[in-house]
Amino acid sequence: MRWTRVCIGWMSLLIAACSSPEPVRPVAPARPVASERAAVAQGSPEPSAPTEQPTVTPPSAPPKPLPPKPLPAPPTTEPRVAIRLASVPRSQAIALKSAGEVRVLQDGDPISSAWTVEGDLSVRAVPGGWKVSRSGGGAARSERSFASGPLWIEPLSKAGEIRWNDRDWPGEMSVHDTEDGIDLVMSVGMESYLPGVIAKELYPSWTPAAYRAQAIAARSYATVESDRWEGRRHYDMVAGQLSQAWIGATDNAKANDAVRQTRGQVLVESGSVVPAYYSSACGGRPANALGTVTDNPHHDIASVSTGDGAARKEGCCGGSPVASWKVVIPVSAIVTRLRAWGAAHGRADLAKLDGLVRVEAADRNAAGRPIAMRLRPARGADLLLEAEDFRRAINAAGDGKSSIKSCDCDVVIKGGNATITGRGFGHGVGMCQHGAEAMGRAGRDERAILGRYYPKASIVRAWR
Ligand SMILES: [Zn+2]
Repeated sequence: MRWTRVCIGWMSLLIAACSSPEPVRPVAPARPVASERAAVAQGSPEPSAPTEQPTVTPPSAPPKPLPPKPLPAPPTTEPRVAIRLASVPRSQAIALKSAGEVRVLQDGDPISSAWTVEGDLSVRAVPGGWKVSRSGGGAARSERSFASGPLWIEPLSKAGEIRWNDRDWPGEMSVHDTEDGIDLVMSVGMESYLPGVIAKELYPSWTPAAYRAQAIAARSYATVESDRWEGRRHYDMVAGQLSQAWIGATDNAKANDAVRQTRGQVLVESGSVVPAYYSSACGGRPANALGTVTDNPHHDIASVSTGDGAARKEGCCGGSPVASWKVVIPVSAIVTRLRAWGAAHGRADLAKLDGLVRVEAADRNAAGRPIAMRLRPARGADLLLEAEDFRRAINAAGDGKSSIKSCDCDVVIKGGNATITGRGFGHGVGMCQHGAEAMGRAGRDERAILGRYYPKASIVRAWR
């Protein structure tokens, strides 16, 4: 049992170019090596953010780009996915609970040498490895030392969940000592993972059809991400906006029903799983995946491109609260943010931006959504910036009140302020969640919803 899990979660680090989430998996030591650290830190060429714009501290050294990977064929059995819950400071003890016994062990350990234990656990990184201590549950306090390398905590109870940070997480936990802190990762079956994704991605009042559409999109996205990171780093996705939201186990009946009713269903185009990016509201002007959320040319497929841009001129998210928005930001703040972003991303020209008198779309896609912005400084030549990077730069400050919801916006600079009016929320690629809900309310099913937002894709039941 354990080896099955280990193989899925960790032992496949040497396989970098597989095209299926279930390739041949070698038995090999699992600790990340230097080259994998670069992979962990890479934010390009394939950043993925289905819902909203992440704010990420860039790595100090430019990461080595990974070769773009082709899209995988649909897996024939349910994949397991590795989700990073958090990266916590090395000095912090990790407090865990489980409803029953757990097994603590390391890669390469025979099960006979594992520590089977019940009660509250505390895991700490110490020089040369880990210390795990037990308390509570009526048992006497005790402690075990483990060597360096990933440490696994496997629940043995039927529920199979581990409680951390006031939530129950299905699957097996592994902890990894990295350069940036301790990574907490759950290895979990796809179908157990998804309810906690869509319960967080959609509003509770939304229709079952929107939930089912979201389940299929999220499953497709996760399948591609799982394949993408196979052998490249010790997790496939994070629990958050950089990948997909995830709240762990949930009693949200709508979310659980939607996942159960669509079990194994993924979107497929030309025999490959669709990287089904999605976002909150497209504003009626969708974005292409390529150049917006990915630079991987294999993702430039009809299902996640705007085509002729005509598909969403009617309806979609026009009735949503984020169909249009306005924010006023001091120009000085915008200049500061653009400079900081430029300095962090190797844009020396932007890092030296000298005032700002005008911002306008320099180029638009077929749907009319900006793909590049032209910035006119108070002094010096105009600068060009990708439209999504403009949004990332403005929002990197993390100040929600002076952030912009999308790059599809118009900027008017006057009297020291920039008045920014825009459409939609998020990157605009793939399914528009507010549009999907509008279709659900109009009585359309998930097939119609997904047919609209991923044209050329079909729904395939990949596993049972
Ligand atoms: Zn829309």
